[in-house]
Amino acid sequence: MTAPNVADTSRRKFLATSGAISGGLLVAGAVQADVPLAPPDKQPPELSIPQPVDRKVGWAIVGLGKLALEEVLPAFTECQLSRPVALVSGHPDKARQVAKAYGLDTNNIYDYENYGRMADNRDIEAVYIILPNSMHAEYTIRALQAGKHVLCEKPMAASVPECEQMIRAARDADRKLMIAYRLRYEPFNKKVISLCAEKKLGKVKVISASNSQQVSAPNIRLSRDLHGGPLGDVGIYCLNAARYITGREPIEVSGYSHQPQNDPRFREVPESVNFMLKFADGVQAHCSCSFGAAESRFYRVECTEGVIELEDAFAYRGQQLFVTTADGQERQKIAAVNHFAAEMDHFSDCILRGKSPRTPGAEGLADMRAIGAIEESCRSGRSVRVAQD
Ligand code: NAD
Repeated sequence: MTAPNVADTSRRKFLATSGAISGGLLVAGAVQADVPLAPPDKQPPELSIPQPVDRKVGWAIVGLGKLALEEVLPAFTECQLSRPVALVSGHPDKARQVAKAYGLDTNNIYDYENYGRMADNRDIEAVYIILPNSMHAEYTIRALQAGKHVLCEKPMAASVPECEQMIRAARDADRKLMIAYRLRYEPFNKKVISLCAEKKLGKVKVISASNSQQVSAPNIRLSRDLHGGPLGDVGIYCLNAARYITGREPIEVSGYSHQPQNDPRFREVPESVNFMLKFADGVQAHCSCSFGAAESRFYRVECTEGVIELEDAFAYRGQQLFVTTADGQERQKIAAVNHFAAEMDHFSDCILRGKSPRTPGAEGLADMRAIGAIEESCRSGRSVRVAQD
């Protein structure tokens, strides 16, 4: 038997994939019989078969507030590498109820006094700090000293020195520290990052970002002692986005804040903060955040050859990505994921494989440096240089 020549083979492939064209007409029945049209065993080709997971990382959830109960604990059902094993709460009745609901051993409930005893529980490898911002540093450091890896909610802490202490504690304990910037693990924001990094629309020039919501009292966000306020709570998303979109650190900032005298919610923290970020390559970002305005969570990236808009950019779900060029506007079709499951599994994967997290303590520290500078600018009425590494 003679081997088919190359021209024959490629012609057969062409006929098989496109049908046969004769004199410009599609000839019915001309498809070659030796090309299978469906998989012989009825399984789709390139099936992604899950690989066995040796073990899932055991997590302790610290603080059973709104985020923990409404988003984080339910997200474990969508995790491949993470499972809840322990709870830390100052409210034993609530903790028992939650443990029951998730089938957790009630012996694995801790409070803020016996917290350090987690050191003796080998089932706990990762600890997720979901406490008021003023408590992040203390409970992160105590968990690291108990030999646990820590995922800490944003903002990382109340000040730059606290962030530095947390990073040092992780280094000293040889444990991993990650800051919970969930948007770095979900596909819409990741797509914007890659569009900008690859300069698909030319160079980034101007970023506008807004993250606002109405906050009613009582709420940890309205307390100065708990380090509330719109900048660290919601403004940080705009700041972080400007940093991940540009891949750079702002060199100078200016900020304006408003604290109304006639609204009892804002006795201790500002209602709104507006701020500008200036980057060394000339990119400028203008950002706004408020606890007294209707929900608005978007950013817009103006590039030299087009504009990227992400609606609901900072929400838990519902992102919509639009790219506009001279050819018109296109809505990007992207499959959404659960942000919390994605970030927890990323951290579990880092623990299981000895890798560094994508958003380590240094990320939280960089945001905190800029936040400190914005706060100083709001106080002084002058623009402020941001300290660099
Ligand atoms: P929350 O008020 O609903 O929960 C706070 C929890 O801390 C409660 O269970 C409370 O009992 C406990 N707590 C312990 N000691 C406390 C004290 N001294 N004062 C007040 N509460 C105390 O708040 P939340 O909305 O769940 O936010 C918690 C953390 O999560 C904050 O750091 C916030 O910035 C962060 N957060 C992140 C996201 C995100 O998308 N990543 C979303 C919401 C909140």
